Amino acid sequence: MSITMRCYFDCQTWDVHTMMKWTMVMNQWLKRGLPGYCAFCLCSRATESGWCEECYAQLPWNRVSCEQCAEPLLGAGESRCGHCLVEPPSFTITTAALCYQEVVSQLVHDFKFQASPRAGQLLVNLMLSQPPPALGNALLPVPMFPARAKERGFNQAHWLAKRLGKNTGMPVLRARCIKQVPSQRSLNRKERRRNVSDAFRMEGGIPEHVTIVDDVVTTGATGHALAAAALAQGAKRVDVWAAARTPFQKS
Ligand SMILES: [Zn+2]
Ligand SMILES: [Zn+2]
Repeated sequence: MSITMRCYFDCQTWDVHTMMKWTMVMNQWLKRGLPGYCAFCLCSRATESGWCEECYAQLPWNRVSCEQCAEPLLGAGESRCGHCLVEPPSFTITTAALCYQEVVSQLVHDFKFQASPRAGQLLVNLMLSQPPPALGNALLPVPMFPARAKERGFNQAHWLAKRLGKNTGMPVLRARCIKQVPSQRSLNRKERRRNVSDAFRMEGGIPEHVTIVDDVVTTGATGHALAAAALAQGAKRVDVWAAARTPFQKS
């Protein structure tokens, strides 16, 4: 037997199964946005950070990785990847506790492209749960070319750095992106480096030890260019702190 219901606005007739399906979708959507529910499995055992312990343990952790660029390493016992040994980047170490895959890539997508503050706060909490061994003197978010930031509506690295700064008591520096960098997505490592070289300028004074903040590290080319700008301006050491690292790279 098929039961049908009239929409309140009289736009169409829905059967009960469609209504139930939509109620379930709406319910999940609401839970995902509400504190108290785990952001990943939607159970009600979430800690203040926004996840349950089981889900946290099962996240795609970047456990064995290059200490300089955080690229996941296949063999334990090495401390640096081949890329960093052959052509070392200008930053010293990278902290990216998670791999950019599964639920983490979804979270980054929701934050970056849907402008979800809940997803952004979860990324901040995840970064704070596995912080760098030394934070240095200041945080430096990766700047965006002004036209691109306007198009997106916000700069995700600056959004993260502001909240990380508030939680850690670290000042947040500013740099400018002075070159409209074409999308890096289809480029290999060398092309990415060329693409972003000389793209950044520091604003104001710069302390000795700076930590660059970004959402995801792909090859490290952006961090390399920004670290080079900070070092040229007087910094002695620059590190990178990101939420996640992409696992597989074009060489
Ligand atoms: Zn969970
Ligand atoms: Zn490396």
